[in-house]
Amino acid sequence: MKRFLSATLALNAALAASPVLAAVTGGSAAPVTSTAKPSPVLSAASPNDFSLTRDVKRTVLSNGLTVLTKEVHGAPVVSVQVFYKIGSRNEAPGVNGIAHQLEHLMFKGTTDRPVQFGRLLGALGADFNAFTYYDQTAYHETVEREKAGAALQLEADRMVNAKIDPAALTSERNVVLSEIEGDENDPAYRLERAVQAAAFPGSPYGLTVGGTRQDIEGFTAAEVSAYYKKYYSPEYATLIVVGDFQTADMMQQIQAAFGKLGKPGTLPVTTSAPLVPGGSEATLGKSPPKAPIVLKEAGSTPLLNAVYPLPDVSSPDAAALKVLDYVLLSGRTSKLYQSMFESGLAADGGTLPYQFARGGWYSFNFTPTPDTGLPKLDAALLATLADVRTNLVSAEEIARAKTSISTSTLLGTRSIDAQATNLGMDATTAGDYQYTDKFLAALQTVTPADVRRVAQKYLPDSARTVGYFEPTKAVAGSGNAPSAGGATQEAFNAGPPVDPAEVAKYLPAYQPSGQAKITLPDKFTLPNGMTVMLLRDTSTPTVSLSANVKAGREFDTDAGAGLVDLVAANLLSGTQTRDELTLAKLLDDVGAQLAPAANRFGVQIGGASRDKDLPVLLTALADILQNATFPADQFKRSQARAVQGAVQANDDPGSVAIKVFRKTLYPAGNPWQVFSSPATIGALTRQDALDFYKTHYRPDATVLTLVGNFDPAQVRTLLNQKFGGWSASGPAPQVVYPMIGKPAGVVKAFGDLPGKTQAVTYLGYQSIARSDPRYYASLVLNDVLGGSTLSSRLGTELRDKEGLTYGVGSGFAALKQPGAFSISLQTNPKDTDKAIQGALNILKDVRDNGLTATEVATSKNGLLSSYTVGLADPAALAATFTSLVSDGLPLSELTDYQAKINAVTPAAVNQAAKELLDPDNIVEVTAGPEGGK
Ligand SMILES: [Zn+2]
Repeated sequence: MKRFLSATLALNAALAASPVLAAVTGGSAAPVTSTAKPSPVLSAASPNDFSLTRDVKRTVLSNGLTVLTKEVHGAPVVSVQVFYKIGSRNEAPGVNGIAHQLEHLMFKGTTDRPVQFGRLLGALGADFNAFTYYDQTAYHETVEREKAGAALQLEADRMVNAKIDPAALTSERNVVLSEIEGDENDPAYRLERAVQAAAFPGSPYGLTVGGTRQDIEGFTAAEVSAYYKKYYSPEYATLIVVGDFQTADMMQQIQAAFGKLGKPGTLPVTTSAPLVPGGSEATLGKSPPKAPIVLKEAGSTPLLNAVYPLPDVSSPDAAALKVLDYVLLSGRTSKLYQSMFESGLAADGGTLPYQFARGGWYSFNFTPTPDTGLPKLDAALLATLADVRTNLVSAEEIARAKTSISTSTLLGTRSIDAQATNLGMDATTAGDYQYTDKFLAALQTVTPADVRRVAQKYLPDSARTVGYFEPTKAVAGSGNAPSAGGATQEAFNAGPPVDPAEVAKYLPAYQPSGQAKITLPDKFTLPNGMTVMLLRDTSTPTVSLSANVKAGREFDTDAGAGLVDLVAANLLSGTQTRDELTLAKLLDDVGAQLAPAANRFGVQIGGASRDKDLPVLLTALADILQNATFPADQFKRSQARAVQGAVQANDDPGSVAIKVFRKTLYPAGNPWQVFSSPATIGALTRQDALDFYKTHYRPDATVLTLVGNFDPAQVRTLLNQKFGGWSASGPAPQVVYPMIGKPAGVVKAFGDLPGKTQAVTYLGYQSIARSDPRYYASLVLNDVLGGSTLSSRLGTELRDKEGLTYGVGSGFAALKQPGAFSISLQTNPKDTDKAIQGALNILKDVRDNGLTATEVATSKNGLLSSYTVGLADPAALAATFTSLVSDGLPLSELTDYQAKINAVTPAAVNQAAKELLDPDNIVEVTAGPEGGK
């Protein structure tokens, strides 16, 4: 569960790169201006000057294994990924889900290594996961460069030696079934399944990627094993390795690990055949049902899903379809944004043209606002599609689409693991690892006439299958659609506890990693008090931006709760010199991204652009931080959306549990006690937003970090120009968090949510701040207790051994202010009491008996490795600098991290356990049906 993979990764990201949902849910793309002329500040690069594959080397081993390598020398890390050309596309009713079931079994160990692979990868400090999709099943891990060889050996081992026996199947089948149960709990998933099945009868693309309960319950170990033996072999696999290595040396390691597998003289497989012959794979040209499919079931909001068949990924129309999608829904200037959101008809939604190896579809999903019926929403969608079939879009819009699509592809592959995944998806879906580069070249030739032609060809009303979800009574299920196009999202069963020393026995040998050198940014303060950090990174022609303004939810008041989020959501709604559309165009014209989001301690603004467009990005940022006007119309619409979000949150066990937990733990008047509600949000006015903005958005409360390819001296000049006139008087507002006493004994509270199938529990109390001398010991303590998914005490005992929870975790919220220590549990309501008791027993055991020296050593090793791996992504690096400084901590925390973790002794951890774990004085809150019983 370390990393989730969304359906839009790689190939589809390249094809789709859709800023849509972000734009819809609160302001991302969009900005500014007429001053977007190429700036002298940055190295001038022309729009399509980059190639994702120029430095990629393709090699086919004699056993048929395709190998793609690319050296990227930035951070000392390597991404290792194995893609198999077998996915749900090869399935049929009766065997739907076998690829996914096998994917889970690939973590159960091999004949030589009878130990959970998650434990092995975890012990390497890898950031790892796997997923199943239509055309492929993939396994990926990012590790320190010294451990790349070990990762290769593990992948080679499980390519041919996985242990697939009835016991392994039984335990992992339950994990797959609960994953499917989670999906099926979501009305959006159920609606999309119904529409997909009706649109593509008899086609594997009408099936679900994850599988059906019935089919999964029916698989035998022999069947899964036969499937594994047939498809998991070098000729069906593509190995991708991207990162900090020398190619010749890496190829030797690859040959050593994989060369001996399979049969020499084998050729790579281009496309694997369907498991059940005879079924059609093509998805174009079916005659779909005319009347809407209507689902009347329990749910929280109505939903619309419409699907139009598309050709496969090799179609010459792929680029025009992607431009069409940009024209339809991207930033605030796009057609569906205007007709669905700006009109006030839709509260949420998105679109995506999916194209796979043997077919595809264009999917439209929308949630209406409370006063809008589904037929009215649908009519607006149809009218917009009629518009693009009839009228030519302007050359200006086409140009903007091209820039934005290619730029978002570039920005989406800033990290090595994203680059590797992109190569793997292209190699297995399109059968051509250079697909994205060719797609981007084809993009440049798309004309307005092409866009109208593909709209006419693929989006006539007669081609579609549409479904309506009409909720009969409100139940859970926030509408976070996994989407029929979604890859599986994994949480693996770690199996019974294993002594870390036992795990270490099965790890391939590797060189000790060097001290990872972290380069700190140049940090300075502008005369107005704004803190700036600059770090030059020339590895890609991009810049990543992270800003934080200390104007977070901690400043919300009881009566006006929700204001902080509304202010953040409207930063891009207009400024004194740019209305919403002008602001949107400023950013869209160069494909730059800027997205504010509020949290408790601040409003974080993430952004990115090509290096040459940094002046545009900073122009937009400076404008929204200094000159936002909160236009009444936009304010009202975002307020309506926020009210609806609060209504849904009141029905969500997770949201209710955390709210009751804080209400119970903290006394009245404590800043942690403030919560928004539909009523408080509904009462807010535009004037409230203006007043808050004036008081809290100030330079001395702002931290800005840039990481990327720029000349620092020139950027300083630019920052002085853009932010020099910004000022504030008096001291910046502060929130005081009083220390509270311990809970007296076990204090229980409940949140009643009738009809729920799942309960969420929080256990905890106030604990330490980041400045506490026990902070580093607490990191190790928590990692073993409940921090790391696959090997924690809580996860192993409650989830893997007892099967009492689907998800369990723990954490110390140690920031500048002391935060809570808490354990969270997701349970079936019938198991809640037992799970709580189990968690308290573990707390007591760890407090009284401590951790073993091996547990502490393993955890330290994992924390150190994942620290290095985590800093490899420039966007994450920028965000880390910003949040550290915003929290009032010195940057030396980063350089000292390794030494401080190394210095943590078992005695220190066990002393911290005695002092910081208290199962006898704890708040215990459950939200669920009948309070979680
Ligand atoms: Zn799964």
